[in-house]
Amino acid sequence: MKYLKTSFNKMEPYFSKNIDEGIILNANESPFNPPIEVINSFKESLEQFAFNRYPDMQCEMLCEAIAKHFNVLKEQVTCGVGSDELLEVTFRAALEVNDKVLSFSPSFSMYRVFADLALAKFIEVKFNDDLTFCCDNMLKAIKKENPKLIMICSPNNPTGAFLSEQDIIKIVECSNALVLLDLAYIDFADEDYTYLATQYDNLIVYRTFSKALALPSIRVGYAISKKTNIDMINAVKAPYSVTGLSLILATKAIENYNLYENNINIIKNERDKLYTILKEGGFLVYPSKANFLYLKLNDQIYNDLVENKIYIRKFKNDFYRITIGSVIENIELLKVVMKYAKK
Ligand code: PMP
Repeated sequence: MKYLKTSFNKMEPYFSKNIDEGIILNANESPFNPPIEVINSFKESLEQFAFNRYPDMQCEMLCEAIAKHFNVLKEQVTCGVGSDELLEVTFRAALEVNDKVLSFSPSFSMYRVFADLALAKFIEVKFNDDLTFCCDNMLKAIKKENPKLIMICSPNNPTGAFLSEQDIIKIVECSNALVLLDLAYIDFADEDYTYLATQYDNLIVYRTFSKALALPSIRVGYAISKKTNIDMINAVKAPYSVTGLSLILATKAIENYNLYENNINIIKNERDKLYTILKEGGFLVYPSKANFLYLKLNDQIYNDLVENKIYIRKFKNDFYRITIGSVIENIELLKVVMKYAKK
C-alpha cells in the first residue's frame, strides 16, 4: 500500500472472502431471506419507482417508520449505508486529533479503524477472564484516560457477551464522553435498551438491517439519539448515500418487524441448543446473546469444516466464531465438530 500515509502503516484491509457455495457461517448473516410479504410489497412499489431521480437525502420515509417502531421522533433518527457508515461518520465528526477512544476488546474490528481514520487514540479495555463485560474496568479506564468517545457493542461481536442496562447507564452517567452503543445484534437478546437513546445528551444508539432483519445486501443502518447528535451526524454524512431501492425495502422490513419474530426465535433456540451441545462436548464456548457463538477450536477442526464446505470465522489464538445457521446447517456443522468432542 505505497500511498498509505505512515500513521496507517499497521492498518490491514478488512477482508471477508465472498463464498457462495456451501454452508456459510462466517459473517453473522441470517440463514433466512426476509419474509415473502416484505419482498412482495417491495416488488409492488417498484412499478412506480422513479429510477431517474436521486433518493430522498433525508431518508424521511424510513426515518419515520423507524421512529414509529421505537416510539421516538423522526428528527431523532438518521440512516446510513450500514451502521458502518454512521459509526465512521460519528468518529470523524466528534473526534479531534489524539482524542481518546475507549472500547472493550475483543470487539468489532472496525472500531479501531474508525479511530485510526479520525487520528484518535484507541484504548482497549479488558473483559473479565470469562469474557463477560467488566463495567468496573471501563469505569476505571474512563477516570484514568478521560476519553472523548466510548464504544460499546452489546451483544458484543465476536464474543456474544451482553452488557446489562444498569451497567450501560453507569457508563453513560459517569462522564461527558460521547457513548456509542452498537446494538447490531440486540434482536437476538432477551432485553432491548434502544429506548435509552433519547434519554441522554451523550448517548447514540446504532442498529442495522443487516442481521435479524436479514438485509445485509441492501446496506442500511440507522442511529437514534437526541436531535443535536443526529444533526451532527447528518452534517458530516455524504449526501444521497442510501439508495432509493434500499430505503423502500428497509421501510417495508421495519413496518413488518412482527413477521420476523418467528425466525428470530428459531435462531435463538438453535444458538442455545448448539451452545449446550458444544459445552457438553467439552469445548470452551462462551454464552451468547447474539446470532453466533465464540469458542476455542483448532486448525484441524477448522480445516475439516472447510473440506466439508462449512465456513466459520477464524480469530487469533484458536478462537473461532460460528454464526447460527438453519437447523439443517447446524446439524451439518455439529457432525464435523463433534468428532473432536472430549466427552
Ligand atoms: N456493528 C457490528 C458489531 C457488526 O458486527 C457489524 C457487521 N459485521 C456492523 C456494526 C456493521 O453492520 P452494517 O454496516 O452491515 O450495518
